[in-house]
Amino acid sequence: MNDMISQQNSAPRHPGRLFLVTAPSGAGKSSLVNALLKRQPNIKLSISSTTRDPRPGEVNGREYHFITETMFLEMKNRGEFLETALVHGNYYGTNRTWIEGQMAQGNDVLLEIDWQGARQVRSKFAGTVGIFILPPSIEALEWRLHHRGTDSDQTITRRLMGAGAEIAHAPEFEYVIINEDFDTALSQLEAIVTASRLTYAQQAIRHHDQFANLGVPV
Ligand code: 5GP
Repeated sequence: MNDMISQQNSAPRHPGRLFLVTAPSGAGKSSLVNALLKRQPNIKLSISSTTRDPRPGEVNGREYHFITETMFLEMKNRGEFLETALVHGNYYGTNRTWIEGQMAQGNDVLLEIDWQGARQVRSKFAGTVGIFILPPSIEALEWRLHHRGTDSDQTITRRLMGAGAEIAHAPEFEYVIINEDFDTALSQLEAIVTASRLTYAQQAIRHHDQFANLGVPV
């Protein structure tokens, strides 16, 4: 009984959840994530820092914080990143303070990061939800990279060469979506978010008082 009372009175544990979305370049990850965030505005998107040049149309502070390599390495040395990775010859990193602030407020946070970053985040936070987006085929990936028209041929070749290496890490993720049809893939992404919020553990955190009133063990 004492146990039950102390459980009922205990403060809710960390309610925020981390969603990790990974894909080879050109699989349609960013378009899917942006559409998801329109439907689920209560998920916060982490804006990474990168040393790569902005693509046409990209805005500093919106897609990325575009910084120099010197600045990146200084921030890394100061421990300001939750994770970092060298991807296609450029550095990328997730801002630690921002993530910790969002999690502390109980917000769900989504990270669009590569497999190396996903591994590092998993080793630091329990209960992350990893989602891997696959293209329907390598030919489709190549077609998308050429048709988005934002990268040089050299960059496209490098990204295609990296695609196989990224795809090899798909088994490390809880969920896989094959992005053949955008609307289907979006519904699947939203279904994963919804389902992962409905696990017993998550519901017990979010509805702590209600569970306690109902006598559901929390
Ligand atoms: P892009 O240059 O096409 O925007 O991204 C290239 C790759 O870097 C993608 O796989 C993307 O998910 C990954 N990426 C973007 N931001 C981060 C980050 O903060 N950390 C890590 N590890 N990867 C990132």
